[in-house]
Amino acid sequence: MGMIDGLPPLREVIRAHDLVAKKQLGQNFLLDLNLTAKIARQAGDLSACDVLEVGPGPGGLTRGLLAEGARRVLAVEKDARCLPALEEVAKAYPGRLQVINGDALEVDVLAHLTPPVRVVANLPYNVGTELLIRWLTPDRWPPFWESLTLMFQKEVAERIVAKPRSDHYGRLALFVQWRAEAKIVMHLPPEAFTPAPKVHSSVVHITRLAEPRYPADGAVLQRITAMAFNQRRKMLRSSLKGLGPDIEERLVAAGIAPTARAEEISLEGFCALARLIAG
Ligand code: SAM
Repeated sequence: MGMIDGLPPLREVIRAHDLVAKKQLGQNFLLDLNLTAKIARQAGDLSACDVLEVGPGPGGLTRGLLAEGARRVLAVEKDARCLPALEEVAKAYPGRLQVINGDALEVDVLAHLTPPVRVVANLPYNVGTELLIRWLTPDRWPPFWESLTLMFQKEVAERIVAKPRSDHYGRLALFVQWRAEAKIVMHLPPEAFTPAPKVHSSVVHITRLAEPRYPADGAVLQRITAMAFNQRRKMLRSSLKGLGPDIEERLVAAGIAPTARAEEISLEGFCALARLIAG
């Protein structure tokens, strides 16, 4: 029996339901329930929260979330083969687990969630990045979630938390850090997963800010950082030339040296420039 919930160990669950991992669904499962409980704890106090879990698979992380006291878990899984295993988890935690069979990029989850909501997921990396971007660009701010606790390829995690003047610093860091606080809270070696992926992974915990860190128009900020980092080795006066003939004066007005390169500029600097471009 599983130590934390009386359900069978995940290896047995996977065998019993013949859940051979599918590469095209990015299936690398976590089988150690101590580890999944530890990941669940990184999300903070779950007892008063609904948790949205994307891609529960055989339910390792789901069991961690429930064992750690989540009020309710809404789990969205694309692979119908996982449903019977998840059904067993739902039975062990009556009324606390709802499973939706569908694509997380398409399902309307809001109808099924009661605030406050925390999002926790070990997702395929491509889906994870796409959802992160969506979760950070809702129609209105603050968004439906209080925090996002997500597994990423280590390199992507480093891009999310990167600070200026580092190799990983770029659009993703600026995009996330503008409206949220992001921290790497765990590193996991490939062997933590079955099958083991080629890369190392990290869990990133992201909490939303009530307001953007510095005022700016989101679309303008996106446009400027895209231009600046698409030619990250060039001086800004040249990479941002397309913004108008007076770009040098605007850079100076924003407190940025026109000869500086994108990776030297802080979020505050980019926001100051965005305000001058918008105005
Ligand atoms: N959370 C489980 C764990 O930690 O063991 C499984 C992790 S596995 C890396 C990713 C899971 O996401 C798989 O179960 C896969 O079927 C599911 N998945 C992939 N794409 C999805 C999508 N677009 N929507 C919902 N689930 C998806």
